[in-house]
Amino acid sequence: MSDHAPEKDHHHPQPLSEAALRAKAIEALLVEKGLLASDAIDKIVETYEKDVGPLNGAQVVARAWTDPDYKNRLLKDGTAAISELGFGGIQGEHMVVVENTARVHNVVCCTLCSCYPWPVLGLPPSWYKSLEYRARIVREPRVVLRELGLEVPADVELRVWDSSAEIRYMVLPERPAGTEEMTERQLASMVTRDSMIGVGRVPSPAR
Ligand code: FE
Repeated sequence: MSDHAPEKDHHHPQPLSEAALRAKAIEALLVEKGLLASDAIDKIVETYEKDVGPLNGAQVVARAWTDPDYKNRLLKDGTAAISELGFGGIQGEHMVVVENTARVHNVVCCTLCSCYPWPVLGLPPSWYKSLEYRARIVREPRVVLRELGLEVPADVELRVWDSSAEIRYMVLPERPAGTEEMTERQLASMVTRDSMIGVGRVPSPAR
C-alpha cells in the first residue's frame, strides 16, 4: 500500500486521449442540437458500471467457485486465468485476484485516482472515484465498510489493496451458503459488482 508508484508513472492524470476528446465534443453537440438528452448518456454509462462490465467478473467468480483448478490458477495468475474466459485488455493487463474467506476480507481502492479493472468490472462507480472513499478506506476500512452496509467482524482480518500504476485487483468473494446445487450460470447471475470490489458480500439465496 505504501509503495504506490510515483505519480509520474501512474496512468493518471493524463490529458484526455483524442478519442475521449472527440466523444466529449460529439456528446456536447448532440445535446446542444437537442438530439440527445444528457441523461441518456448517463444511463449508458450507468449500464456499463452496473451491468455490462461486472457480468464478466461474475463469470470469473462463478468459474472459480465451481472449478477448484481454475480457482488455483486465478489466484496464482489472475491475468492469465481471466484471459482463459476471454477477458483482458486495457486496465486489466496485470490482474491480481484476492480471495475473501471466513478469516480474511479484502477490499480494493485506488488512493491516487481511480484505477479499476475495466475488463472484469467495467467502469468504476462514482463513489469509488470519490476523494472520501479513497482517503478513508485505507485509514478506517471497517468504519467505511459499515457505512456501506457491510459489517466485518472484529476477528476477520481486513486487507486493503491499493491499485498501483500497473496492478488492478479484483476480489473473489465467498460463495454463499445455499448455492451448492446451483449451476455456474446461476451462480454468475448472483455475483454483484460490490462483492468483487470488496464492499459487499454475495447474499445467500435463502435470505
Ligand atoms: Fe489510479
